[in-house]
Amino acid sequence: MKALIVLLAVLAGVWLWRNGRQKSLVERKRPDERSTPQPDRLQQMVCCPVCGVHLPRSDAQVGRLGLYCSAAHRQQAES
Ligand SMILES: [Zn+2]
Repeated sequence: MKALIVLLAVLAGVWLWRNGRQKSLVERKRPDERSTPQPDRLQQMVCCPVCGVHLPRSDAQVGRLGLYCSAAHRQQAES
């Protein structure tokens, strides 16, 4: 009778150990949430109406009628 109890205890232990291993395997399969690169550094491009060149908005010359590639083209367009 004592041997049967020991056998049941061992089987229960093995069953619990296998359940724990399967759970840890499932957890390992979970995809790691690596941060994807965000295009927040993407610059808005603007087109100069005088020469048609495209340039980043931060580099453009702001005029009354629009955005230009240079101060010379701004003056040329607005004079
Ligand atoms: Zn221009």
